[in-house]
Parts: sequence; C-alpha cells; structure tokens
Amino acid sequence: MHRFTPSLCRILFSLCLLIALLGGKAAYADENRELQAVFDIFTLADSDNAEALKQLEQLYSTQNAETSTKVRLTTLRALYHLNAELGNTSAANGFLNAMRKLALECNDKDALLMADVILAFQLHQAMKPEQALAQLNQLLANLHTDASADARFRLYGALGNINYALGHYDTSLRFYLDVLRLTDQLPFRREQNRIFILEGLALLYIAMKDPEKSLAIVHEALALTPYSRAPKNYASLLIDEGVALNMLGREEQALDAYQRALKIGRDSHLIDVEISCLLYIAGYYLKHHQYKQAETTARQALLRSEQFEDSGYIRNAKASIGFALLGQGKITQGVELVNEVITIATETGEKSDVEELLSQLAAVYEHVGMYKEALAAVRKQQEVNAELFRSDRSKAVAAIQEQFQSEQKQKQIALLERDNALKDAALQNHQLRQRVTMLIAVVIVVAGVFIFALYRRVRQANQKLRTVNTQLEFHAERDPLTGLYNRRSFVEMMKNRQDHLKLDRRAADIDSPDCLVLLDIDHFKQINDTLGHAAGDVVLIEVAKRLRAVVRDSDMVLRWGGEEFLVFSPKSQHAQVVALVERVLYAIGEKRIHAGGRDIQVTVSAGFIALPFSGVSESQLNWEKVLQIADMALYLGKVNGRNRAYGVSELLVAPDLALPILEQDLAAAIDADMVSLTEVEGPPRFEQTIFDKHTKKEQNELLAL
Ligand code: GH3
Ligand code: MG
Ligand code: MG
Repeated sequence: MHRFTPSLCRILFSLCLLIALLGGKAAYADENRELQAVFDIFTLADSDNAEALKQLEQLYSTQNAETSTKVRLTTLRALYHLNAELGNTSAANGFLNAMRKLALECNDKDALLMADVILAFQLHQAMKPEQALAQLNQLLANLHTDASADARFRLYGALGNINYALGHYDTSLRFYLDVLRLTDQLPFRREQNRIFILEGLALLYIAMKDPEKSLAIVHEALALTPYSRAPKNYASLLIDEGVALNMLGREEQALDAYQRALKIGRDSHLIDVEISCLLYIAGYYLKHHQYKQAETTARQALLRSEQFEDSGYIRNAKASIGFALLGQGKITQGVELVNEVITIATETGEKSDVEELLSQLAAVYEHVGMYKEALAAVRKQQEVNAELFRSDRSKAVAAIQEQFQSEQKQKQIALLERDNALKDAALQNHQLRQRVTMLIAVVIVVAGVFIFALYRRVRQANQKLRTVNTQLEFHAERDPLTGLYNRRSFVEMMKNRQDHLKLDRRAADIDSPDCLVLLDIDHFKQINDTLGHAAGDVVLIEVAKRLRAVVRDSDMVLRWGGEEFLVFSPKSQHAQVVALVERVLYAIGEKRIHAGGRDIQVTVSAGFIALPFSGVSESQLNWEKVLQIADMALYLGKVNGRNRAYGVSELLVAPDLALPILEQDLAAAIDADMVSLTEVEGPPRFEQTIFDKHTKKEQNELLAL
C-alpha cells in the first residue's frame, strides 16, 4: 500500500529539484557564467545538500541590484528548492515569494510561470490535488506562445505528476513523453533531468501494473546515474527498482534494494529517502505477516515523517502501523488508524492510494480470518478501481484494467469460497450437537439445502464470471499471437487523436509530425507452405519481438493484419524515421529466425510516410488516406525486389494539383515529379539458400523464393 504515495513524494521532490535545475538562455557570456555557477551548486546538491545550500547562500550575499535579473531569479529559485528539500519550509517560502515578486516587477513571464507551477504543486503537498490540477491546467491554457523550453518542461512535468497522482494515467503518460522530448532542448543538466523523467515514467508504469517495463526504465536510468556523483538519484532509483521487483514477485531482491537505498539515505542525510525506504520495508514485513517488525519499522518512519512535517508520509506511516496492529489482533486500534487514512485519501481524491490501501486491508483481514470484512474491502477496492479507470478512457490503460479486473474477480471468488467453507463448518458442528432428536434431523436437512443452495450460487457466480471474462478477452486490445496491439486499438487511438487535435493546437505540430511505417513480410506464404503454419506463427512472433525491441519507448507497434505490421512513431523528424526504418529492416532480416527446425532469413518490405503529410492538414488528407499512400509505397518495395522500404517524403507541387493523383496512384505521381521518395535498403541477403539443411525438392522451392 505504500507503493504510491512515498513514490509520489519522491517524484515531487525530484520535480522540485529538477524545476530548480534549469535556467533561461543567458543573453551574455557573464550572465551565462553566473548561471552556470548556480547550476554547479545544484550538481553539488546531488551529493551534499547542506554544503550546496551554504555555497548558494554565500553566492546570494554577493548579489545586488546590478546583478542580472535572470541570475537573481535563478538563485532565488535554487534557494527555495534547497531549503524545501532540507525541510526549512518557511525559509523556502520566503524565497519563493521574493522570486515571484521580482518576476512580476521585471515582467519575466517564464520565471512567473515557474513560481506559479511551484505554488500549484504546493497545493498537492497540502493534500489538495484536484485544486493543484485545476491551477496547472489554467497555467497550461494561458501558456504564452514564446514560453521557453525549460518553463514548458516544468509545467508539463508537474502536469505529468499530478495526473499520475489522480489516476489519469494516459494523460500523465502523454505529458511525461512530452517532457522527455523537451529534455534535449534544455540549456543545462539535460542528463540529470532525463533521469528524473525516466523515474516518473517508471513509477507510472508501476501504477499501470506493468512492472517489467518499469524495471527496464529504472535500469536505463541507473545506467545514466553513477552512484558517486548523485547518491540521491541513485537511492531513489533503487527504491523504484525494489517496487518493480516486488510486483514481479521477486520480493527478497526488492527488500535488498530498499535496504541498500536506506543505507544511502542515512549516510547522505536524505530524510525523504530514509522515510520511503522504512515504509517499503514495513510493507515487506506486512506482506510476510511479520507484524511486530512491521510495527517497529513503521513507527520509525512515523517519527521521521513528523520531524519532516510531511503529511503524505505521516499518513502512510499511520496506515502501516494500523495494518501491523490489525495483524497482531488489535482490531479496534488498527481499524481506527486505517480508516482515518482511507478517509483522508478519499477526501483528497487520491484514488490510487485508496485502492492500494483497500487491497492491503483486504489482505490483512484475510490473514486474520475475517473473510467477510476482507470481501467487503475487495468489493470497495473494485469500485474504486472501476472509477479510477472510468476516468481514464485510454484504451491502453483499459486493457490493463481488464486484466486487473479479472484478477480481482478471482480473488473475490476465493474469498467467497473460504467464507462459505467457514459457514459450512459452523453448520456441521451445530448439526452434530443436535443429532439426538428428530428436530435436529430437520435442521440437518434444512442446513443441507441451505449449503447446497449456497454452493450452487457460488458455482453460478463462477460460471457468470467465466462468461464475462471470455467476453473481456474477446474485446481485448491485443493480438493474441504476438501480444502486439491490434488494428482495433489503433483505430480507436486515431479517433482519440483526432478529438485531441481539435482541442489542442499544440499537438498539430506540422514541424514534427508523427510517422507511419507499414511493413509486410516477404514471401511469407512460402514459409507457411514449406515449413508449416506453426512455423509461420513462430516467425510472426519473432518478427513482432524484434520490432518491439528496436522502436522507441513512445512508438506503438501493432499487428495490422496477417503478416503486416504497423509502427506509429509520434513526433519524429524525417532523419530519425529513416534511421528507424533501417533499424527495423536490419533487426528483422540480419539474423536468421529459427522456425520449423530450420534457420531462415526473413525479410520485410515497407512503406513509410509522415502524418500530417508534407504540411497538408489532416482535415484535407486524413490518416486513412496517408496510410493508403504508405501501402502503395510498400507495394513499390515489393515490385522493386523486396527487402527494402520506400518513404514518401514531400510534395514537390501544390497539394491541389498533386493529391488527386497521389491518392490514387503513387507511381503516376512519382513519374510526374509530384512527390519525392526516399529508399532504404534492407540487409544483404545470405548467399546460400534460406534453409541450412534441405532436400533437393526444398532447395528447388527455396531457390524460387
Ligand atoms: P509478398 O511478401 O510478396 O507479399 O508475399 P506473401 O506470401 O508474403 O503474401 P501473401 O499475402 O500472398 O501471403 C500472406 C500469407 O500469410 C497468407 C496467409 O495464409 C498467411 N497468414 C496470415 N495470417 C497468418 C497467421 O496468423 N499465421 C500464419 N502462419 N500464417 C498467416
Ligand atoms: Mg500481405
Ligand atoms: Mg507478404
């Protein structure tokens, strides 16, 4: 149950820090040098907060009215963050007010925005996440068009975090991916900021119940973070690693990660890291029913949280103590504490926390044999979960929800069965005691009927659940063979995208369009015919795996049809797309695939194109038409020898002239010099025949491929 809130607080701190790490482009070399000095102090803060603050205060004392405004604003912002991190709340707020005042006086819109983002985020710290979201959305609506990359970075980052906290996972994911892209445009500390955002993403994937993806992201971030340079980030990532490992059932490894992080937290005086670790460790003990140890650890966490004056941590520590008490049979005290926490989380709208708390509560009830209460908690949890995902219409998220829901239902059945078993036992005792009289014989009959009816009801419920689950599976967004998204989910996403385009001008960015790559396996039918359908399936699965491995995290790969795949690559420059297509052709064709007892080279042909295409608005040339053109480009790949891709790059004449022809006949448009084309070749073909061992007959067949 502690998984989310402590993580959230750490994100919050990470965000606060990263907010402080960035600066506007200095107009003059001097200004740049002075700004650099502030950022150097931040780098120092990665390993020694107290020393960094000392140096920053020293720097601040040398500044006066002649110092450039930008430098003063950046210093004030830095002073705010370092003080906040060290728990000096009132000093921190003093600097924040000074910064906001100076920004207003000098009409520095970027600095004002940064201050307002912090203020909005403080509402979140004060357990008013809905209000925080409203303010941040307001800031987004009023975002000035020339806002700097770092100002946007802060705003989107905060929106990513707050949407995550409120369970709006797809919105959160969208903002995180926006922010990740913005890191390349930052003037300072790009790598550190990238790490922070990766951490946010890792936590988001945890919330979306995808621990494997989360773990991969954590490892990517850990590789960017040498421990000696930034113990704070390192410890924070270790905690995330623990959370993901825990979800994957690798609990001992998770505990080890928390303990390593705890040591770093204590050695480097990182109080928030220390509290988080204590809470996670308490969670581990709770899960293993070591309630005494859980209570001791959670009480340590509570003590530190109270010193740190952080209501989120305090709340979580209290909940842990409550669960530990429940586990030890101190029901009244335990229930009181846990309910207090659930009420607060419900009031503040932090649904993912409520859901997590209820799940933990159900587990503890179940362990102490209070099945009825456990069932009630699971039901409530399911309601919250439904709300959580109802507010999130994203299909990707809905798919995860379906899986989660069916797990929940299984849990409910198990609890019902155990509750029934209890009733059954009680009833049988009763019957034994009364067996001597005829009356009791009647009771036995009635009881038998009762039990039978009860069991029948459970069986019927089971049957119903099975039917519902089958339907859910039928509607799944995934292709069952390859695990990729299917065509339906893509069409749905494009529909959402169109709605989104109508609402958000920002998304319709002609300079960095999205890209579609349509792929078709060469001579796939021959593979089926020669090696069998099962081998064909193996090839499809392997091609899907290789595709997924080479695309970016933000790209979407789906199975478009039988042996056709589609890669949707948002916000990609032409050069990036060409590189992506080349990577794809090589990833699939360069190494043989083992199928049907043979090692064969499998190649693909592809067509690719940008959306919107060549500056033509999507209302004029929608995604379906653009995809049709990609299909014609793919066909060109087939007729020109396969194992190659053609990209339709841009229009060379006015759209009104070109489109009527292009939409019908790409080859004709090329002949008439209306569009330009990019060719990407696949890997060299192996000289020997495709199969290593083959009969004469097969050889002849294969030579014909
Ligand atoms: P080319 O590359 O030139 O387009 O030739 P091709 O043989 O790849 O294309 P064609 O469209 O003639 O054949 C596609 C084959 O893919 C036909 C169909 O039986 C097979 N196929 C479609 N779906 C599946 C599947 O799920 N598993 C297997 N094993 N085969 C499939
Ligand atoms: Mg085909
Ligand atoms: Mg084919």
